[in-house]
Amino acid sequence: MSHRTVRLTGWGRVSPSWAEVVVPSTVAEAAALLQAGPASRGVIARGLGRSYNDAAQCGGGVVISTARLNRIIGLDAVTGRAVCEAGVSLEQLMTAGLPAGWFVPVSPGTRQVTVGGAIAADVHGKNHHVAGSFASHVESLDILLPGGDLRTVAPQADPALFWATAGGMGLTGLIVRATVRLRRIATSRLRVDTVRTADIDETMAVLAEHDRAYGYTVAWSDSLARGASLGRSVITSGDFAEPADLPRFARADPFAFRPGAHAGLPPGCPPGLINRHSVGLANAVWYRKAPRSRRGELQTIGKFFHPLDGIRNWNRIYGPGGFRQYQYVVPFGAEAAVRHSLEMVATARAPSFVTVLKRFGEGDPGLLSFPMPGWTLALDFPARTPGLARLLGSLDRLVVEAGGRVYLAKDSRVPAGALAQMYPRLPEFAKLRAELDPAGTLASDLSRRLGL
Ligand SMILES: Cc1cc2nc3c(=O)[nH]c(=O)nc-3n(C[C@H](O)[C@H](O)[C@H](O)COP(=O)(O)OP(=O)(O)OC[C@H]3O[C@@H](n4cnc5c(N)ncnc54)[C@H](O)[C@@H]3O)c2cc1C
Repeated sequence: MSHRTVRLTGWGRVSPSWAEVVVPSTVAEAAALLQAGPASRGVIARGLGRSYNDAAQCGGGVVISTARLNRIIGLDAVTGRAVCEAGVSLEQLMTAGLPAGWFVPVSPGTRQVTVGGAIAADVHGKNHHVAGSFASHVESLDILLPGGDLRTVAPQADPALFWATAGGMGLTGLIVRATVRLRRIATSRLRVDTVRTADIDETMAVLAEHDRAYGYTVAWSDSLARGASLGRSVITSGDFAEPADLPRFARADPFAFRPGAHAGLPPGCPPGLINRHSVGLANAVWYRKAPRSRRGELQTIGKFFHPLDGIRNWNRIYGPGGFRQYQYVVPFGAEAAVRHSLEMVATARAPSFVTVLKRFGEGDPGLLSFPMPGWTLALDFPARTPGLARLLGSLDRLVVEAGGRVYLAKDSRVPAGALAQMYPRLPEFAKLRAELDPAGTLASDLSRRLGL
């Protein structure tokens, strides 16, 4: 089993720490690591490192990478039930499932995440309003508990452990295997409608209308637009196409999927490329280029779900200082808070390059799962943006007052006190963790920072 001391960060490239990274290739090897007892600074799992923050890091401790637990054990072409090891990526599942017409039930904005990471963060996608988040599609999971015991956990048979693990950020054990229900699709293209909205009121109205009409929908907003243009957005909504929607030449291969061919950023990409001027310009150009309204455009899975995956290491565009993601959800009824948050960002001239607004449907029972019915806004800022700490602190207060929360897979700086107000089931999670892991084997930089 390979061991190396490695400097790790999340995708945002802030808060690095050094840990011993171990890469087991069997469940027995992984179990032995946990049976060895608590490392002085703890042990945590790591998938593909696409959480933006310090969730898959354990400074001075041990990080168990699932890079070699990456086998698809079975995929039933009739039922769409996939049994796979936790290090299998969503891209692997797509590549294996699509030829038989099966797609992942929930896809985040990148397919470079593992099944283990998707469960641990209980990730959501553009279809949350109809499909919920990832864990709702998991029939069971096999988890190595802190002492190394292997347990099979299903939502009906062991709801407490299942729903602490879903969204539990790796703090209940190492998921080694899962059974996931895939969704049936008729082709691998999407029929997409695009609407350009003039302001936040129109954006919210169109999103609400599109939630009723489409399976997938999201708004990309211009974070620097102010005044009458505040919250102007390009909304893309769609559903998987039927074979008859495809042009004749594409019908022979209705499930075509070509995930390769990533362009990289040019070497020596200058730091500081992302600033209020470049983002302001890029947002304005991108907004004007979008059609006022377009119907029925066919898009590939990559273009519709994972546009950023097209550029390898795009996170380096923010320079060595990295960037901070901030994603919140506030309940329906708190529309004024959404509007106010956009005003705060635009007034601070804080350049968020990727700004995404969407409506969530019902949440699931995950103790620390992020989604709840309401509005979710994701922003990302160069970490060195002047005044950023003050702006994000103000956003925390706004979110708490509105009864909302920030997303643990993206947060890199929320105060522990604010988190406790955002996640009312935190004490239940802490109690379960104390019973499950009295020796404190499992820990991450995130858990230490937030006292989880
Ligand atoms: C471009 C981009 C777009 C994104 N879009 C979305 C989005 O739309 N919706 C969304 O919800 N998220 C989104 N994310 C976040 C991402 O989906 C989550 O952070 C996901 O958890 C990353 O999976 P990973 O395999 O990289 O896990 P890592 O980042 O390596 O780990 C994340 C957490 O999962 C735990 N973990 C990983 N594997 C295991 C395991 N086997 N057992 C137990 N715990 C484990 C880790 O300990 C850590 O706490 C996006 C990220 C990027 C970079």
